Amino acid sequence: MTTSEPSVLLADMTWPEARDAIQAAQVAIIPVGSTEQHGPGMTVSTDIVMAAAVAERVAQAMAPRAIVAPPLPYGLSSHHMRFPGSITISAATFGTVLKEVMHSLKAHGIDRFLLLNGHGGNQAALSVITTEACQELGVKVATALYLAGAYDLVQQHFGRTYAHACEIEASVALAAAPALVRQHALEKGEELPAAYRHAGLPGGTTPAGSFVTTAAPFEDLTRNGNLGDPRLASADVGEAVVALAVERLIEFLEDFTAE
Ligand SMILES: [Zn+2]
Repeated sequence: MTTSEPSVLLADMTWPEARDAIQAAQVAIIPVGSTEQHGPGMTVSTDIVMAAAVAERVAQAMAPRAIVAPPLPYGLSSHHMRFPGSITISAATFGTVLKEVMHSLKAHGIDRFLLLNGHGGNQAALSVITTEACQELGVKVATALYLAGAYDLVQQHFGRTYAHACEIEASVALAAAPALVRQHALEKGEELPAAYRHAGLPGGTTPAGSFVTTAAPFEDLTRNGNLGDPRLASADVGEAVVALAVERLIEFLEDFTAE
């Protein structure tokens, strides 16, 4: 972003700027993610930085019709707690914070929200929070895992749609937030034999080929915290994935804000 463009980030606004931006906006995007281990080669902020980066691209493209609320850097990461640096909050706390943030923004005039998620482990909780917030706050709420917006392209390039601190996540990070990646420290996942057949990842992420959700801790899945191989990442593929996800999120928001 150049300095001549007005910011879409609420955190960077003064209150008169926020008043004017909210008056022009039809939706607020709230980036949600996690603070959790991403193997030896990616930072613990990966999920929230990526969600915020995608949210900013979407809002910039829709300006002034969308604004981005300050990102929530904590999520449901209990399955990563064996790895230093990971921080987890309960589903109840996560829901309370998000609903109170939406309640606050509603008081200023925003009544449509997109909870844009960067962490698969939040998915199940966000579905519940979305339903409850609509009912309890009288606002319109939607949620999306940003990466899922480009799953067809991800599948085409990587032969699967989801892992963790893997070639997929490293690719999008190299494209949108390269400071997340320590190229020299990237390691192939030291994956352990699956304990269960048909089980996806904890927190509600069930990639194609799995249909059971468990709460398996990550140390049972991988020794170094990686699933997949982030050394195979491509910034060019990552940029295409991010661009497609942004394009489809904008298409959704055009419909979501039309009525
Ligand atoms: Zn991640």
